[in-house]
Amino acid sequence: MKQPQVNQDICIGCGTCAALAPATFAIDPNTGKATVVNPSGNTEAEIDTAIASCPGGAISWTE
Ligand code: SF4
Repeated sequence: MKQPQVNQDICIGCGTCAALAPATFAIDPNTGKATVVNPSGNTEAEIDTAIASCPGGAISWTE
């Protein structure tokens, strides 16, 4: 099953992914960067929207 992953070296912590797919992504208060809290929390389409909206291209699908 493919799952989203965040490259925290690229993430700037803007929060867009957590706003668009809040059941999948959250900002880690310790790092200020996005993490995947539930890889299937949102639909694939919602996650795709979050991926497309990430300003740094920090989110990708992994198998
Ligand atoms: S949208 Fe991209 S840059 Fe913004 S918090 Fe999410 S992963 Fe980080």
